[in-house]
Amino acid sequence: MSVTQAIEALRRELGENNVITTTEDLFCYSYDATADLPEQKPDVVVTPENVDQVVKVVKIARQFRLPIYPRGSGTNLSGGTVPIKGGIVLSTLKMNRILEIDPSNLTATVQPGVIIQDLNNAVAPYGLIYPPDPGTVATATMGGSVAECSGGLRGLKYGVTRHYVMGLEVVLADGEVIRYGGKTVKNVTGYDLVRLFTGSEGTLGIITEIIVRLIPAPQARETMLAGFSRLADAGNAVADIIGQKVIPATLEIMDRVTVETVENFAHVGLPTDVAAILLIEVDGIPEVVKSEAAAVRQVVAKNGGWVKTAENDEEREKLWSARRAALPALAQRKPTTILEDATVPRSKITDMLLAVEDIGKRYNLVIGTFGHAGDGNLHPTILADARDEEEMERVRAAVEEIFRAALSLGGTLSGEHGIGIAKKQFLPWEMGNPGVQVLKKIKQALDPDNLLNPGKIVDLT
Ligand SMILES: Cc1cc2nc3c(=O)[nH]c(=O)nc-3n(C[C@H](O)[C@H](O)[C@H](O)COP(=O)(O)OP(=O)(O)OC[C@H]3O[C@@H](n4cnc5c(N)ncnc54)[C@H](O)[C@@H]3O)c2cc1C
Repeated sequence: MSVTQAIEALRRELGENNVITTTEDLFCYSYDATADLPEQKPDVVVTPENVDQVVKVVKIARQFRLPIYPRGSGTNLSGGTVPIKGGIVLSTLKMNRILEIDPSNLTATVQPGVIIQDLNNAVAPYGLIYPPDPGTVATATMGGSVAECSGGLRGLKYGVTRHYVMGLEVVLADGEVIRYGGKTVKNVTGYDLVRLFTGSEGTLGIITEIIVRLIPAPQARETMLAGFSRLADAGNAVADIIGQKVIPATLEIMDRVTVETVENFAHVGLPTDVAAILLIEVDGIPEVVKSEAAAVRQVVAKNGGWVKTAENDEEREKLWSARRAALPALAQRKPTTILEDATVPRSKITDMLLAVEDIGKRYNLVIGTFGHAGDGNLHPTILADARDEEEMERVRAAVEEIFRAALSLGGTLSGEHGIGIAKKQFLPWEMGNPGVQVLKKIKQALDPDNLLNPGKIVDLT
């Protein structure tokens, strides 16, 4: 049975408009936002419009033994959507309807192709927010962010995607459709499959509907920029703010390399005479915001820093646009941008910052570090050129050292970007072989023929 026959069957079941085969178009699906990975074109891309069509794709894939690579916007940073074995890329972008906003239960029900920001815009008139906000909030899909269990800038106070997913509809590898969870706040019926599929990176099932929790929008907020002349002081201030039992909505760090690069790129008025800055936002009811902001100012001063407060929405937006510009700004300095997301307990953030600085010096690499410092989640970003093999060898060695440093501090390989193909070889470092075997058994149980996103997280051999 040939790929040509499979494509004919897909055209029959989904219609001509939902099947893409031209070489130029297929090329667009051969990579994602991850650097330094081989590209691979799929044989065909499908754009199903509903769950029935997703089931049909799965059945045809089974019949013709073709792998399926689910894809939202392809902004992931672990090679999660690269179709490394060819086959079918299943794009969810046409399943982009917000099915329901339910203010009495504080939930929304969406299809997987809904863009995160679109959901937030839709719930804003109800005085509600959906907090998970990766830097790609304006482009990433709900399905991709659930499958990746994305974090973002508000993770410190509000948690990450898994804390908001209440129910899922999933098409399994055998074409069965299951629904787990729902709108109830409590649900302990059976194993927690909602959690299992959240963060499963498209390897266990295709998510076709999502019920998420919404929360009331905060009444007030205060946004501050803190500058430090020593990197360690910025790291210590992060731990001390939390130590004061202040949980900001956002507590982000940018080191000197990142600040200088962003300022040259975006001209937002960041100070360039600092070793690091923190961007801090406290929110909640006005009295609490006031006292938390005062506590933050005290902690920053104690750690030798200074604070400037955003006086209005325009100044606030400038600061957040500076933070969102961090990766695009760094990426324009060199052709290849290797972004990591090793994560440590917050009390170890200073050790991790200094370890990354030291690794950069020893391997003679430019590393800009920014990230969600309040979550212990740093993004050391190595600027390199993939055409320079000698430099890339130093990059790979430095990345391994970053992983080892994070693990030795009690951290993890990935706080929010997932494993995909980029980090799967390092899994045993964190979980040991028995841990990896458990992952394989779960994959084997749900997808014994290895049809769904094969080659990601674990290999079935
Ligand atoms: C500049 C930049 C900033 C970023 N900032 C952050 C950040 O702050 N925090 C963070 O966590 N991430 C961040 N990311 C990573 C990425 O944007 C997020 O993981 C995002 O949520 C992925 O959404 P997507 O629609 O692009 O998913 P994709 O990249 O298309 O897919 C991600 C994974 O989910 C699977 N998948 C997609 N849809 C489905 C589905 N319906 N069912 C099953 N599996 C599916 C795919 O196979 C893949 O494994 C950033 C990336 C970039 C480039």
